[in-house]
Amino acid sequence: MNLMADASRPQDAPPGFHLLAKPSGSTCNIDCTYCFFLSKDALYPNEKHRMSDETLELYIQQLLDSHRTPTVTIAWQGGEPTLMKVEFFRKSIEIVQKYRRPGQTIEHTFQTNGILLDDEWCAFFKEHNFLVGISCDGPREIHNTYRLDRGKQGTFDKVMKGWRYLRKHDVDFNVLCTVNAANEKHGRAVYRFFRDEMGAKWVQFIPIVERANADTINIANLGWSEQAGGQRMLYTQSGNMVTNRTVGSRQYGQFLIDIFEEWVRHDVGEVFVQLFDVTLEAFFGRHLLCIHAPTCGYGPALEYNGDLYSCDHFVEPKYLLGNIHQKTLLEMVASPEQRKFGDDKRNLLTKQCQDCKVRNLCNGGCPKDRFGVSRDGEPGQNYLCEGLELFFMHTGPTMVLMAQLLQKRRAPSEVMGIIADRDAEQTHNALCPCGSGNKFRRCHGDQNPASPFSKLELSPVEAEPVATN
Ligand code: SF4
Ligand code: SF4
Repeated sequence: MNLMADASRPQDAPPGFHLLAKPSGSTCNIDCTYCFFLSKDALYPNEKHRMSDETLELYIQQLLDSHRTPTVTIAWQGGEPTLMKVEFFRKSIEIVQKYRRPGQTIEHTFQTNGILLDDEWCAFFKEHNFLVGISCDGPREIHNTYRLDRGKQGTFDKVMKGWRYLRKHDVDFNVLCTVNAANEKHGRAVYRFFRDEMGAKWVQFIPIVERANADTINIANLGWSEQAGGQRMLYTQSGNMVTNRTVGSRQYGQFLIDIFEEWVRHDVGEVFVQLFDVTLEAFFGRHLLCIHAPTCGYGPALEYNGDLYSCDHFVEPKYLLGNIHQKTLLEMVASPEQRKFGDDKRNLLTKQCQDCKVRNLCNGGCPKDRFGVSRDGEPGQNYLCEGLELFFMHTGPTMVLMAQLLQKRRAPSEVMGIIADRDAEQTHNALCPCGSGNKFRRCHGDQNPASPFSKLELSPVEAEPVATN
């Protein structure tokens, strides 16, 4: 069935968009200290946060019908989507078959904390070619700082057990790592853990920026989980203070540079770090990540009951666009309020951003983080600006080299040879280009640096899922 013939598509309808669906709302089986999404339960009090079969069918029907791109991504997220059980997602596959438009290719993605993964889940993911994002903040000591269960115990071992099921079934996986106060100084060690111990080929880093104000900062510093004798606060994007778990602005840039200097020597074309890929693409005028695109608003979030919000980071009453039982997804994505939401990203740039040398790469970053003050005292500057500027300025010359290689139809991985030649010319006492202040040979010139963190070691029970073939 074609619900929306092309002639009746709303004006400003995009050919496609990237919706994040939360079939179990914000409900989760763990309680990470920095996770404010759990507080969104307060938006729907006294309800069981589970997507009904009716809403599931309507959602997928509308999603497929509204796209005019050859590929449609069906992205499941949470909360924790494994709380929905495998059967729910089997139904989603059947519904896709029912409504898929001729020539449409479907990509399935699934973001999980990994804890409930088992043979059944991973066989299902493999059968239907899901790309599974698994949340991990690094080696055990780092991961267990903030990623805790409801009993305040670290979840590292449980996550690694889930990861081993993914490996056993050869499921494609992406590691999603938050950058926070606990790992901000350990970019390279964290990255090497993902690459060398987890065997990750796709890695994504998300800065933790938790906002608060003078009234809420003390409670916020304790964590967003339910406090004894009190209720969870509903988190909103407001306030110009940050919690003590929030990554430092400069530290965020330094963290990324630390990883970049490792990646560009060893892993170009082998390991895909989302921000590095999208930065290279931006040199060709293609903006693949909303955060660093000139405008945004094509990444709405769908709650379990069909409510659609402007963005996953703005699941707040003020940004509710409507419900798919009353309006179509496309109407809401193309609506004047959502277009304004997306265009404001460009229209509200500070003068400092407008004049910035890396504006075309950064574009002011995500509006949710724009609660700082610019160098000229203008409000609305991105809290992460210092780190973003540092990262884009530092990586720019190497990105240009890779872009030039691509223009000549050569592989960007050839940049590793160019860097190796330069490294060979370094004098004995040369400082590392990463900016750490350490000697190159003791920093990124050291091929096998010792990690200050423990290795991935599992008990026999945790090791059980690994295949023997
Ligand atoms: S608000 Fe931020 S995360 Fe949301 S769509 Fe815009 S840039 Fe992306
Ligand atoms: S680096 Fe800072 S000034 Fe430059 S565009 Fe990004 S946020 Fe704006």
